[in-house]
Amino acid sequence: MTRMCSKQREDGLSAWRRVAVFATAVALSFVPGVSDAQAPILATSQDKAQDRAPDKAKIRGFLTGHVAAERELEQKLQRLPSSESAERTLRILTSTPHMAGTDGSRRVAEFIRDQLRSYGFEAELVRYRAWLPQPTEVKLELVQPETKALGTPEEPFESDKDTYDKRAVVGFNSYSPSGEVTAPVVYVNYGTQEDYRRLSELSVGVEGKIVLARYGRGFRGVKAKVAEENKAAGLILYSDPADDGYVAGDAYPRGPWRPMSGIQRGSIQYTFIFPGDPLTPGVAATEQAQRIDPRWAQNLPHIPTMPVSPRDALEILQHLDGPQVPREWQGGLPLTYHTGPGQAVLHLKLVMDYQQRAIYDVVGKLRGQHDDEWVVVGNHHDAWVFGAVDPSSGTTAVLEAARALGELARAGWKPRRTILIGHWDAEEYGLIGSTEWVEEHAAELQRKAVAYINLDSAVSGGNFGGSATPSLRELVREAAREVADPRTGRSVYEVWKERLEKGQGPRSPSALAPPIDAPRQNDSDPPLGMLGAGSDFTPFFHHVGIPSLDMGFGGDYGVYHALYDDFYWMKTFGDPSFVYHAAMARMVGILVLRLAESDLLPFDYDAYATEIDRYRNELEVLAKVSPEGKLDFSALRDAAAALKTSAARAQKALEAHGGVPMDATRATALNRQLVDVEQALLAPQGLTGRPWFRHTIYAPGTYTGYSAVLLPGVREALDRKDWDTARRETSSLVEALHRAAARLDEIARVASSNAKVEKPAAGR
Ligand SMILES: [Zn+2]
Repeated sequence: MTRMCSKQREDGLSAWRRVAVFATAVALSFVPGVSDAQAPILATSQDKAQDRAPDKAKIRGFLTGHVAAERELEQKLQRLPSSESAERTLRILTSTPHMAGTDGSRRVAEFIRDQLRSYGFEAELVRYRAWLPQPTEVKLELVQPETKALGTPEEPFESDKDTYDKRAVVGFNSYSPSGEVTAPVVYVNYGTQEDYRRLSELSVGVEGKIVLARYGRGFRGVKAKVAEENKAAGLILYSDPADDGYVAGDAYPRGPWRPMSGIQRGSIQYTFIFPGDPLTPGVAATEQAQRIDPRWAQNLPHIPTMPVSPRDALEILQHLDGPQVPREWQGGLPLTYHTGPGQAVLHLKLVMDYQQRAIYDVVGKLRGQHDDEWVVVGNHHDAWVFGAVDPSSGTTAVLEAARALGELARAGWKPRRTILIGHWDAEEYGLIGSTEWVEEHAAELQRKAVAYINLDSAVSGGNFGGSATPSLRELVREAAREVADPRTGRSVYEVWKERLEKGQGPRSPSALAPPIDAPRQNDSDPPLGMLGAGSDFTPFFHHVGIPSLDMGFGGDYGVYHALYDDFYWMKTFGDPSFVYHAAMARMVGILVLRLAESDLLPFDYDAYATEIDRYRNELEVLAKVSPEGKLDFSALRDAAAALKTSAARAQKALEAHGGVPMDATRATALNRQLVDVEQALLAPQGLTGRPWFRHTIYAPGTYTGYSAVLLPGVREALDRKDWDTARRETSSLVEALHRAAARLDEIARVASSNAKVEKPAAGR
C-alpha cells in the first residue's frame, strides 16, 4: 500500500510532508576538551539553540573519548556506497514484475537474501501464509448512453521496453470483494466525509450508485470505507491530471508525471483498523495459526472497487449531469465537472481469486557485541509491477548500506549492538510481511529493539524529508549534516533547510498529501513529520512502541503504483546517475552507526515531552468548541506538565553527570529505560474500536488513513461527540504519560546515582 508508499505520503508523499517540528535540541552530546572520556559533560538545550552548527568534537550519545573512533568509522562507511553498484542492484530488482504472492516476489526475496549473505550477514527467508486476492476478471463498461468498454490497460511506450511486459498485473484494488453492479454514477471529488456532506447539501444522493472518486487527500482504503458508509454500490478510483498528471507537468514518457492511461493500483484494506493478514489479527500468520472466517475480518472492505486511468474517467465524467461541482472539485480533465447522476450507467464486474498465499520476508543479521540490543532497518520488497521507486529505491539503498556495514565488519569492526535488516513482503497489500513478523516477535522486539529505521519509496528525486518519533528527530537532522547532497556538494541538511525556507515543497506527491500545519517551534530547523501509517514502520511503532523513523529523497513522481514506475523512469527522471541512492545508503549507514555504537542511546525526550504538551493544548482548544461534553482536562494538563518536568530532570541528570563513564551494567540499564519510555506510551488495551493500535500519542486517522492523528483516542472520540469514550481515553492517556514520566524519573535516578559513584573519577 504504501503511502504513496510513503504512504503517508499518501499517495506517495509521505516523508516530505511539511510538518511541523520542533527541534528542541537535546542532547546527549558530550563536550570535548575535558581531559577524556572520564569527564564528559552534556551539551545543554540552550547551547544547542544558540549554536546549531555541528561541533565535530561531539556526537549525541557518545563519550568524548569515543567520538574520534566513531568519526573514523563513519568516514570509512561514507566511502563505501556506490552509485554504480546501486544502479546494478536496482536493475536486477526491477527486471520483472514482483507482486506479493507471485514467483517474482519469491525470487526477489531470494536475491536479497543471497546479497545479504554475500555481504557477511546471516540471512534467512521467513515464510507466512496470508489471505491475498489476485484479480481473475476486472471488467468495467459504459452501458448507457452508449456501450463502451472501459477498464483499459496501461499503454506501452516504445522508449521503455519494460512497459510491454505481459506479466504486469491489470489495474485492480486489492481486497476489493468480488461483485457485479450496474448503476448510475456520482462524482464524489476525493471521496472524503466532507465531500459526501457537500453532496447531500446539493441534494445529490449516492445510495445504490457507483461513486467515482479521485485519488489524493488520504488513503484509498478510507475512500472505500466512506463510500460503503454512504451506501454506495460500487467505487471507481481514478488519478486526476490535476493531482499527478499533465497539469502537474509533462506526462510519461516525456516527463515524470502520470500519462492518460496510467493507473494507480493499491490496497483498500482497512489498515487503520488493523494491518496485516486479515484472518490472523494480532497473531503471526504462520502455517499453524488459527484463522478467522473472512466474513468476520474487520479490515476487509465490502463494496466492489477498482481503479481506472484518467482517460477512462473522462469517458465517464462527460456523461454526468446534475449540478456543476463546487469550484474546488473541478479537476484537470478537459470538461466542466458535474456531480451526476446522469445518462451514464456503468457495469462493473470483479472476480477476485482469494487464497492463502505464501509470502517471504528476508531477515538479515549482523551480530553485535550485545546481541540483546537490536537496531532494526527495513523496507518492503514486493511491488505492484516493477516498483523502481516503490519500493526498490529503498531496497537498493538498504542493500548498499548493508554492503558498507558488511565491509566494515570484514575489516575487523564488530558493532556494539546487533543490526537487523528486514525486507518485508506483501507491504502493498496491507503491511503484511512486517506486521506478521512483528506480531511473531512482539515480546522479543520490546525487549531488544532500540529503534526501527524505515525506508520505502526512498528515491524519486533529490528533496530530503522524513517522519519520526519526536525523540529521534534531532538524530535524523544530525545524520543529514554528515552526508553530502550529491547535486550541490553541501550537506543534505543545508539543502533540505534551504529548500523549505524558500517554500519549495515537492510538487506533486505533496499535492496529494496535504500537510499537517503544525506550528514550527524553531524556524531554523527543517521539520520532520509524524508517523501515521502507510508503510512498514506501522507495526513497529504503533503496535509495539519501538522508536521509529522513515525517510527518503522525494521529487516529481506521477507514476506511483503504475506500470511506469520502472527502471527507465528512474534512469530518465528520478535519479539518472543513482547518486541519491548512494546518498540514502549513507544516511542509513550513519543512523545505524549512531544507534548501534552510542554509549547512551541518542534519544531526545525533552523534545518529545514538549511536543506532547503542544498536542494536549491543541486538544483542549478543540474541546472548547464542544463545551457540552463537559470534559475535564486538568489531570491531562498535570500529567503533560509532569512529563515535561521528568524529561527535563532526566536530561539534566544526564547532562550534569554525563551518565558516563559507568559500568556496563548501569549503561545497559539506562539504555533499556531510554527505549522503554516510548513503550510506556502504549495503552495495554489499545485504542477504542481498534485495539491493535496501542500508541496513545499517534495513530493513523480512521478517516485520513496515512496521516497521523494526535492523541487519537481522545481526539477521535471528541470528533464523534462520544463523551464517555473521550473520558475513558483521557484517563488512559493520563496513565500513559505518568508511566513515561516514571521511567524518565528512573533514568534521572540512575544517572545521578552513577554520578555519585563516579564523581571522584571526574576530578582526576
Ligand atoms: Zn512502498
